[in-house]
Amino acid sequence: MKLYFLGTAGGRTITFKKIRNSGGFLLKTKENLLHIDPGPGAFVYFFNTPFEPWKDLTAIVLSHLHLDHSADVNTMLESATESGKRKGVKLFAPFDALEGENKVVLSYIRRFVDAYILKEGKKFNLKDLELETLFLQKHHNVEVYSLMFSSEGKRVIYIPCGRFEKSWLEKIPFGVDLIIFNSTFYRRRPNIDHLSVEDVKEILKFVKPKRAVITHYSKEILLKIPNKVAEEISKETGVKTIAAEENMVIDI
Ligand SMILES: [Zn+2]
Ligand SMILES: [Zn+2]
Repeated sequence: MKLYFLGTAGGRTITFKKIRNSGGFLLKTKENLLHIDPGPGAFVYFFNTPFEPWKDLTAIVLSHLHLDHSADVNTMLESATESGKRKGVKLFAPFDALEGENKVVLSYIRRFVDAYILKEGKKFNLKDLELETLFLQKHHNVEVYSLMFSSEGKRVIYIPCGRFEKSWLEKIPFGVDLIIFNSTFYRRRPNIDHLSVEDVKEILKFVKPKRAVITHYSKEILLKIPNKVAEEISKETGVKTIAAEENMVIDI
């Protein structure tokens, strides 16, 4: 597997004042190219990678409906399906992102794709890739799911925005190859449903993946310098942690 990071912005200020790019990340296997959380600008930043949506993209995954994760989902699907001509493109999203009053996929675009609703404990088979919904997270009254991608004997977990709960420690498989954290904050904030670096440390000490990536930076993390934060996490947990950068590629 190979990961391509389009953007690293998290939180309102960094995303919507465009201090960092957004756009989520791509996950490439032999037979699949997934675009996970195509936030604002994803369509443009996609072309920084070696791929073309209408040739390469096989599926889009939304962890949740918030705009910093979904703003370009319609544009990406229009491009990937060649406005409905290219069949078989898949879309995975929570129920509220597809059917609720805040649904983010336009009805005419949805007809171009095979749409699947994410639910806790669900597994989807995509040829050489398995997508598993690990658990539902608490995040400002929208449905958010942590996800695991398995291919060629490797496992990558994505923990998007949400409030950390101790129960996660039992639900995250031990010793996976990589965990990507949307660790927006450095310190825990009691009233905001976001992941912090303190949470990341607690998780890594317990579930011991081979490597970790932090991304979705708030101003607080940028002021602390993401690379320094990653170094601190590595030292404290023993898990090699990388600070995501725009256009970064990681081989799994
Ligand atoms: Zn969110
Ligand atoms: Zn977010």
